[in-house]
Amino acid sequence: MTSLAADLLAWYDANRRRLPWRAEPGAHADPYAVWLSEVMLQQTTVATVKDYFARFMKKWPTVTALAAAPLDDVLKEWAGLGYYARARNLHKCATVVARDFGGKFPDTEAGLRALPGVGDYTAAAIAAIAFDVPATVVDGNVERVISRLRRLEEELPGAKKSIRALTGEITPDRRPGDFAQAMMDLGATVCTPRNPKCLLCPWARACAARAAGDAERFPQKAPKKEKPTRRAVAFWLVHDGHVLLERRAPKGLLGGMPGLYSTPWTERPDFPAKAEWLTSVPSDDYWKPVEGLAKHTFTHFHLETRLVSAKAAQRLNLENGFWHPLDRLDDVGLPTVFAKMAKLVSGQ
Ligand code: SF4
Repeated sequence: MTSLAADLLAWYDANRRRLPWRAEPGAHADPYAVWLSEVMLQQTTVATVKDYFARFMKKWPTVTALAAAPLDDVLKEWAGLGYYARARNLHKCATVVARDFGGKFPDTEAGLRALPGVGDYTAAAIAAIAFDVPATVVDGNVERVISRLRRLEEELPGAKKSIRALTGEITPDRRPGDFAQAMMDLGATVCTPRNPKCLLCPWARACAARAAGDAERFPQKAPKKEKPTRRAVAFWLVHDGHVLLERRAPKGLLGGMPGLYSTPWTERPDFPAKAEWLTSVPSDDYWKPVEGLAKHTFTHFHLETRLVSAKAAQRLNLENGFWHPLDRLDDVGLPTVFAKMAKLVSGQ
């Protein structure tokens, strides 16, 4: 084991974050808990994930239990975490593990990578943390720590390969799972994006960026492309204490989730005109504009939505539509983008 690995593990033993999905140092964690937490942590903060993780584990304590749950229930519990393809893959993966592997996760990186929704990072993390495989685990925290440690001038995302190789060089054969979690913790609590606490760092003496006094310059990143703005009009149609919702198509953005009917979300300088609105509703004066805009940012674009509302004289039956009680809107599992629209209408 390199002295870097030994120093980091000693630091981890004293300073690790206590997280509900983790085992004590040196012990193996439950692969199901590691997998669930890692899928949730993609694009989501630890603070947010904790509650969701606790709810999922209570409701579905094993992968077999999760596999047996209806997909709709899983999507509902997932609501608010975003990136809903993750939830669909989560369920698909649970089904495969329960059906094809007798409820036991494969214990190799390659076997894990073959599961739905499990990419290189997640496979390496589960292999290392749950099965003690000396896999190279690189997430955003690790990228930052390693590029500072070595003062790597190469820009991300191109630098990923070099960072992987550098991480692999110091990953120990003993306690690789603790090492991976230690790297994540170091990045999250000490080697933070701003104001890294180098005085508390177990690698302070070895770190090239600290020696040069320019840690915050790393990692170097290629300039980001600006996100385009898409615009749409969404419809809030109520009847007898119910609102009209749409079950979205199973594939694509927010697939299978409930939402409001809207014009297509297209990149355009202005909002769609009335002629493009929901045509099944008769008159032009039918809709009342709602004040303000609902704004939401997805990975690749911003969405600005104007809302119009109306009271329907009778229940319209639209394809994939359903009427949901307004006083139980919290139960339906609206993705955040639609929850923001609902909030705008209710003036909260
Ligand atoms: Fe990060 Fe500072 Fe530690 Fe270097 S010494 S790894 S910059 S916290």
